[in-house]
Amino acid sequence: MTKRAYNFCAGPAALPEAVLQQAQKELLDWQSKGVSIMEMSHRSDEFVGVANQAEQDLRDLLSIPEHYKVLFMQGGASQQFAQIPLNFLPESSSADYIDTGIWSRKSIDEARRYGNINVAASAKKYDYFSIPGQNEWQLNKQAAYVHYTTNETIGGLQFDWIPESGDVPLVADMSSDILSRPVDVSRFGMIYAGAQKNIGPSGLVVAIVREDLLGKARASCPTMLDYKVAADNGSMYNTPPTFSWYLSGLVFKWLKEQGGVEGMAKLNFEKQRLLYEYIDKSDFYTNPISKSARSWMNIPFRLADARLEQAFLAGAQERALLNLQGHRSVGGMRASIYNAVPMAAVEALIDYMRAFEKEKA
Ligand SMILES: *Cc1c(COP(=O)(O)O)cnc(C)c1O
Repeated sequence: MTKRAYNFCAGPAALPEAVLQQAQKELLDWQSKGVSIMEMSHRSDEFVGVANQAEQDLRDLLSIPEHYKVLFMQGGASQQFAQIPLNFLPESSSADYIDTGIWSRKSIDEARRYGNINVAASAKKYDYFSIPGQNEWQLNKQAAYVHYTTNETIGGLQFDWIPESGDVPLVADMSSDILSRPVDVSRFGMIYAGAQKNIGPSGLVVAIVREDLLGKARASCPTMLDYKVAADNGSMYNTPPTFSWYLSGLVFKWLKEQGGVEGMAKLNFEKQRLLYEYIDKSDFYTNPISKSARSWMNIPFRLADARLEQAFLAGAQERALLNLQGHRSVGGMRASIYNAVPMAAVEALIDYMRAFEKEKA
């Protein structure tokens, strides 16, 4: 057996070991067909079966109501930043966006290419350490939609509440916290998530779209980017990323075996509690995010002396604690502890942090 490291990568992120083992077992010969799943037509009964089962399992996990379509597309979450206005923002209309950090700002910059974007609230006034409460938002009742990012993967900020947008559809980028705890899908017009954080391998983006929002794309919207085209073709207008879709399906099955999103929520709560508790108690490590806005998934932290960062990372690597460096735009450290990162990984990280502090402080 090869020894697996503990992987704290922000994305592409750790996958459940059991899922990788199953994929390995099936790689050369999927279900005695004599070929790999990667080598099958996406139109074959076999692959369509895999695709439909993955959708059904995701529907079960998130209790997705009947009147929502589930789409499996390419282009990552970043492509959604353009696809959303192309589908939902008429040229004469405007949309509200909430700025909580780097990913929401990217979505804002891209949407501005297509129309009038109103930043209805920004965490900037809190230096991105806190999320403005809804009483501070300037929402426009006529907006085509309201867009926000439920978890800022780089900054380490997460909403623990769902905004109230009245009749205006709420659109959420859940790339880094989908399936980490229960969410009431019926509150949203659309939810989307790049797969490589909490779902599966990269190359796939999952979107959950309320049916009544389909079919309103701009005339100039490329066929491939029209959600209605994807929905009408079972996400197979062209060749979908079949291997990513299959592997994501294995992850959904694994999640069900772990007690679903409720089971994950319990585990994720404990994982983040342990790590923040340790950081808060120590004078050596700090996390600046206000308690009510702290991410359960991505936990940035700094060392009291930034000159020790390289030594910290090198020591971590020696212990097979990988990918703890913060995003290149912000520096410091970051531990991403998605669903597939076990409690044992968090415990090993804390043990190492304690030992490092003892040695250096
Ligand atoms: C990673 C990430 C993205 C970008 O995802 P890609 O699939 O690389 O385009 C967008 N939003 C959030 C919140 C992310 O974490």
